[in-house]
Amino acid sequence: MGNSVIDLPVQPIDFHTHLGEVRSFHPKIKGWIKAELNDLLQYMNETSISKVVVHSLPPRSDPFSRVVSNTRLLRITRKIRDKVVPFCCPSPKGKNIQATLRRFLEEGCKGLGELKTRSRVDDTRILALLKTAEDLGIPALIHVEEGPIFSYCYGVESLAEVLEKFPSLKLIVHGPGWWKHISDDSGVEAYPSGPVRGEGLVQRLLRRFDNLYVDISAASGLNALSRDLEHARRFLEEFQDKVLYGTDFPCLSSSGQFGIDRSHINLLLNLGLGTRVLRKILRENAERVLR
Ligand SMILES: [Zn+2]
Repeated sequence: MGNSVIDLPVQPIDFHTHLGEVRSFHPKIKGWIKAELNDLLQYMNETSISKVVVHSLPPRSDPFSRVVSNTRLLRITRKIRDKVVPFCCPSPKGKNIQATLRRFLEEGCKGLGELKTRSRVDDTRILALLKTAEDLGIPALIHVEEGPIFSYCYGVESLAEVLEKFPSLKLIVHGPGWWKHISDDSGVEAYPSGPVRGEGLVQRLLRRFDNLYVDISAASGLNALSRDLEHARRFLEEFQDKVLYGTDFPCLSSSGQFGIDRSHINLLLNLGLGTRVLRKILRENAERVLR
């Protein structure tokens, strides 16, 4: 356990972290935040995290991120793969993506991620990447966002068709363009507030597709749960086998830095969930996806 007391029923796996530089969206901090492997390991140690998934991004996909490249990530993590699990994502626009992803796998990559690119979620190039992941038997993590600055893997209404195409692909979805659909009145805001009304696309797809998972990382996952705590408890109980704990370390939060600030873990611990549910969300579901 880490050096400060945090009472957890299990040692968590953080399914969504990055290494490298990310732009600050904190109103009182300008510029870029950089996290190296030692910083990540310190975060894990201090918060009792036993394992993390570290995601690269397709090259030049996000102007607010300079996370380490696929190749660099594989190199950095080579000696500590038992604790730091690399996910890689070639550019969907690249040539020979199948061969590239296969090579990453040979070098120790365990999943496709973070798939974040400025095209529709059902773009033929994204479908080709997901098909490759399915063929190779690895999970894929996708970032869905629809404005106001950029849109990534957008067109969430087509996600059902995408999932239908790849029944044996474990697909993890996150991002503001996904999580706002936890409510039936998803509206136009990226981070809607106020109580969840009815049921949105999130619940409908989670019920329909066994191979669909979600991660609660970053502001989007945190907001979807914290906007309506009563709903969050019921949601996590119903989908206790489909939800993955994640933070988006080293991105900044309103209270510091995701992961370090314990906002996601504290939210889960304070909802009054049973130990069995917590164990699944904090660790066991991630173990199943990574198997
Ligand atoms: Zn993301």
